[in-house]
Amino acid sequence: MRVSGLVIRTGVPLPPASGPVRQAMMHKDGVAALRESMRLYGQFCRSISLTWGLSLAHLPSWASTTEELHRRGLWMMNAQRDFLIHVWSRARRQLRANIEVRTLPSSWSAGPPTSDRWSHYQYTAMVRSLHLPHDTRQPTYPWHDLEAAARTSLARAVDAYNFLEDSELSELAHRHVHHVAALVGGLFGCNIEYSDDTYWDVCRLTLMHSRWGMSAGFTSTRNCSLCAQDIETCQHLLDTQYEATVRHDAHGTCNACGQISCPHTDGETVSAFPRPVMSELHIHEVSLVSRPRDPLARFLKVEMSRDALLQCLGEDPSGRDICCYRCLHPCSGFD
Ligand SMILES: [Zn+2]
Ligand SMILES: [Zn+2]
Ligand SMILES: [Zn+2]
Ligand SMILES: [Zn+2]
Repeated sequence: MRVSGLVIRTGVPLPPASGPVRQAMMHKDGVAALRESMRLYGQFCRSISLTWGLSLAHLPSWASTTEELHRRGLWMMNAQRDFLIHVWSRARRQLRANIEVRTLPSSWSAGPPTSDRWSHYQYTAMVRSLHLPHDTRQPTYPWHDLEAAARTSLARAVDAYNFLEDSELSELAHRHVHHVAALVGGLFGCNIEYSDDTYWDVCRLTLMHSRWGMSAGFTSTRNCSLCAQDIETCQHLLDTQYEATVRHDAHGTCNACGQISCPHTDGETVSAFPRPVMSELHIHEVSLVSRPRDPLARFLKVEMSRDALLQCLGEDPSGRDICCYRCLHPCSGFD
């Protein structure tokens, strides 16, 4: 079985292998990820109700559909799946129709196409054909902005769980991932990837429920985040704050706080503690463990066996698109 994933992050402070400093760093990074995910999720819900006019009462949620499955006594996988597809596609159609009515020029509002197949490209082509002034000709299609925000919220929710799994916040983080994953899968879809003649499981929710990660044996230099010299020999002391000029590196990591999304802007002067940053990383071996040194070192895609697919689908999919609906279902536990 082939897999692909993240082995270790570089350029950010990694928690030590064990001890109270590890726990404190995991808690801090986990809470930051959870907060960012919840903020995006909240903005998403606000935007679809205030801007796009879809009442939140009409938006299914993982909790409400799970409850409804129990109430209706739907225990079989197929019956559950049909019900979940039905409620989510109804919400998706309504949201798309609302967006189309509100974004198309008034001449189209009499009868904008509302089919699910109505794509960004068709939309752009039609708007172009109206010969609108240059700056309004290629609007950013709001559906894509909503989708990007929801998918980022899901990625950060999974990060949060990976940081918080051994803390008192683990169940909160776990349930939050289900909420966001159902929203993303239900409104925007979760597809099984097909490449290199192979189907790959890329469902964030399903992959998160398999608790394997990767621990790398490596050597690296530890440089100072403030002066980029060897932290053992540079003039900065770890417990002292210094005035630092903010800069973000090529990956977007801030030298002052070590985060990727932070409130600092390049050129600004802030007080910051020096932090050790790994560079010149050499990986010697990778082992599979349940608690990787870097909590985010997890699988991002896993090869799916043809036999299992055949059994699931009743036929060989031979390259055609397969959708994942597992992220809409109630939780079936961790492995
Ligand atoms: Zn999925
Ligand atoms: Zn230094
Ligand atoms: Zn920063
Ligand atoms: Zn779960």
